[in-house]
Amino acid sequence: MSSNYILGNRVDSLTLAAAVARVASFIADGSPHHIVTMNAEIAYLAYKDPGLQAVINRAHMVTADGSGVVWAARKLGTPLPERVTGIDLVQALAAEGARRGWRFYLYGAAPGVAAAAAAKLQEEHPGLVIAGTTHGYLGPDAMPALLAEIKRARPHILLVGLGAPKQEYWIATHLEELQVPVAMGVGGSFDVLAG
Ligand code: UDP
Repeated sequence: MSSNYILGNRVDSLTLAAAVARVASFIADGSPHHIVTMNAEIAYLAYKDPGLQAVINRAHMVTADGSGVVWAARKLGTPLPERVTGIDLVQALAAEGARRGWRFYLYGAAPGVAAAAAAKLQEEHPGLVIAGTTHGYLGPDAMPALLAEIKRARPHILLVGLGAPKQEYWIATHLEELQVPVAMGVGGSFDVLAG
């Protein structure tokens, strides 16, 4: 898989289908993997924040979420095959996951939203397994209990919707401890899915 660099941030050259296949290989592998969906806003934040840029460039997959990123790659002479938005990737993973029995955990957004998003995903993808949901406004004191719950739930895919860059830092901080095969920042996707 080849990669491009936009403002120093890695973006992988992937179609949606290739991204789903890579996630399947991450799950088969079983060790923890971090997925970043890159848009112009995150690219600029990371350009200004070397810590965030290091997190992104260490991630196991970085998809081109924003049309600005696809545009920039074309301008730089290293075009990407297609835009892979976070929401499209979540839908495609839910479709594949419903077939394969992957367990999903949704963490983030206002109280009730992740649960509503999970219910919508299950409606659209019959058989989808939701291992749990938690809202994204817990204080630091509640973190150990949340981490323990996610570990107990043993999801294959942990979707984290805390907005960028909070979700990227949260995943980078906790991924080793959680040992989930795939953790992915999804921004405001739970709000969109919940409708
Ligand atoms: N959010 C959260 N906890 C926080 C801050 C934000 O759960 O402490 C949620 C917020 O409710 C929303 C998402 O994170 O669902 C951020 O959405 P936004 O569209 O701003 O993020 P982006 O897609 O731009 O990264």
